[in-house]
Amino acid sequence: MPTEALNVPAGYRSGFVGLIGKPNVGKSTILNLLLGRKVSIVSPRPQTTRQRVLGILTKDDAQVIFVDTPGWHKPEDPLGRHLISVAKGVIEEVDILVAVLDATSGIEIEDEWVFNEVRQRKRPALAVINKADAVKKPSLLPFLEQLAALKLFDDQIPVSALKHENLDVLLKEIIRRLPEGPRWYAPGQVTDQTSEQIIRELIREQVFNAVRQEVPYAVAIRLDAMEDKPRVTVIQATILVEREGQKAIMIGKRGQMLKEIGKAARLELERELGRRIYLELWVKVEKDWRRKMSVLRELGYHY
Ligand code: GDP
Ligand code: MG
Repeated sequence: MPTEALNVPAGYRSGFVGLIGKPNVGKSTILNLLLGRKVSIVSPRPQTTRQRVLGILTKDDAQVIFVDTPGWHKPEDPLGRHLISVAKGVIEEVDILVAVLDATSGIEIEDEWVFNEVRQRKRPALAVINKADAVKKPSLLPFLEQLAALKLFDDQIPVSALKHENLDVLLKEIIRRLPEGPRWYAPGQVTDQTSEQIIRELIREQVFNAVRQEVPYAVAIRLDAMEDKPRVTVIQATILVEREGQKAIMIGKRGQMLKEIGKAARLELERELGRRIYLELWVKVEKDWRRKMSVLRELGYHY
């Protein structure tokens, strides 16, 4: 146990909080805003998050360790099955469950699956209705009533991550329910990801933002080399796709798409890492990588 863990005031609270819910409800957005740092990438598309991501918030009276998860969906390939098993594993190991719902979609079948998971676990659970900014206030009422009727959640909190509304209330309600405990992580640490993982994720985020349709789902990022020079950090990375057609899309007419992604990724990397970056991006076909266990393992999508 790190020595910081011992120096906590009496009554200090700490624990693991699982952010669960169907894809695209705003789990990662909420996490990033609570932490004030981008630890988990966000996109307008479902299933952006592929790994369990820790976000560590250290306060004077508590340490909250958020666990962001891939969204709950019906898996269709080995990567999809991996995503669900990650989410299920998280549900087993956390102290508190925070089920995130989308005010704009109402309760859907995937939400019911999440409710079932919560029902099977005997631990504090909060329901968060996100995107409250995108609906008229009165329409939240029936949603809240429907949730209350389930008798599943200790509290239900409408928030807008986008407008930073009510996230402070959510945090307070979480901390109130944490057990007493030590600081598990040093106060300065905000995530358990290595810098290599963060770099790969930030590049992947820009792919999701730039490329339409299904192509981003066929993309993984491999970090080939990284070298700190006195004035700049040089990063070489490869965008893996599954087919030649996807490679053509990733590169774009006269390399326009790859250039756009590279520029957006460089700016994002510079902002998050606080250093000047020189980014070299390549595109390579790794046929059907989502079905190949060896590649999935190499990329850290473990089995
Ligand atoms: P996740 O799949 O649950 O992690 O969802 P993300 O955090 O990746 O967000 C999915 C999309 O919802 C992104 O386009 C976000 O910008 C958007 N979003 C997140 N929170 C809000 C919110 O409070 N209001 C609105 N209108 N959109 C949001
Ligand atoms: Mg996410």
